[in-house]
Amino acid sequence: MKTDDLQEKITAQNGRIWAQIDLDAIRFNMESMHASTAPGTPIIAVLKTNAYGHGALSIATELEKIPYVWGYAVATFEEAAALREGGAAKPILLLGYVFPYCYGQLGPLDIRPAVFRPDMLRQLSGAARAAGSEIRVHIAVDTGMTRIGITPDEEGLSFVGQVLAAEGIILEGMFTHFARADETDRSHTDLQLKRFRDFEAAVRERTGYRIPMVHASNSAGIISFTEANLNAVRAGITLYGLWPSPDVPKDIVPLRPVMSLYSRVVYVKDVPAGTPVSYGGTYVTSGSATRIATVPAGYGDGYPRALSGKGYVLIRGKRAPILGRICMDQMMVDVTDIPDVRENEVVTLIGRDGEEEITMETLGDLSGRFNYELACDINQRVPRVFVNG
Ligand SMILES: *Cc1c(COP(=O)(O)O)cnc(C)c1O
Repeated sequence: MKTDDLQEKITAQNGRIWAQIDLDAIRFNMESMHASTAPGTPIIAVLKTNAYGHGALSIATELEKIPYVWGYAVATFEEAAALREGGAAKPILLLGYVFPYCYGQLGPLDIRPAVFRPDMLRQLSGAARAAGSEIRVHIAVDTGMTRIGITPDEEGLSFVGQVLAAEGIILEGMFTHFARADETDRSHTDLQLKRFRDFEAAVRERTGYRIPMVHASNSAGIISFTEANLNAVRAGITLYGLWPSPDVPKDIVPLRPVMSLYSRVVYVKDVPAGTPVSYGGTYVTSGSATRIATVPAGYGDGYPRALSGKGYVLIRGKRAPILGRICMDQMMVDVTDIPDVRENEVVTLIGRDGEEEITMETLGDLSGRFNYELACDINQRVPRVFVNG
């Protein structure tokens, strides 16, 4: 470890707020998924939005060594370029449309775009010829998500033909995306998979070309639809130890949460009954004296303001309810029932402390928000501290 990194860690853990990222849990979750997929199924690690807030480059660096990890998938060219710049060497796939300004760099950086628009294909081909390098592409197929992708019909087949004929373009993959694989009703996913397989068969029959990487499953698919493993699977939320939805079975692929979020008590005071707390005075103390701890974390860090008056944090293994509104950089919690809370002691906002655990799913339930979104929202102001081994 470089001295700079060490310094950063020491500072972070002694500071206002930090997210601890457990790289052992990343490996554990990967192994779990590997064990649950058909032998030899490569896994594409989905690292978009800074690896769902967990730190894309550090996670890619960890995954570089794992042979069954084929590569990475991100949403934007900038995310892919940052991984390359940081030394990630495995293939990178862009999952959505990317704009022409970056086409010239895709070949040289070995980044694969998703293709589904004829104009995009023409421009990519032009860029590949101009740069004197080839661009590998994955065709996106819309089988029932209605987001991006060609339709699996005659027009779609003709697009595949155009891709195969395009100069400087190598057709490496074809994929679709499930809209409802996290639900108990399997019918929509079954239908999507059938459409996709039928289309792939039609492509083979029409062109005689077998596309090397045909992939469909997201995390929910990995858990519940082993028949959809195909030539690769794309693991997002489960890589981070979080669940695609409350409806997916929890006993098939064991997972461990990767992110914990910590802060420290910066102020403790006793106030009498009738004291309003925070903006708007939406909470007013009652009973006899209330002991309040101020925690320097807020919605400016991506901690959801929707938890105002609803959420809680853990101090000394006990729940401390959030009082009144969460501010941008601070919040107040009730520590009346937790003896001897002192300034500077650690506060757990997400994670385990003794018998108690606050998961991303707990926060989602309490705030009426989505676990994926909560993880992505923990922002740049929060230093990531990576633990390994
Ligand atoms: C985000 C995304 C994934 C990962 O989804 P999870 O539910 O997090 O596993 C996979 N494929 C595509 C196309 C995506 O956009």
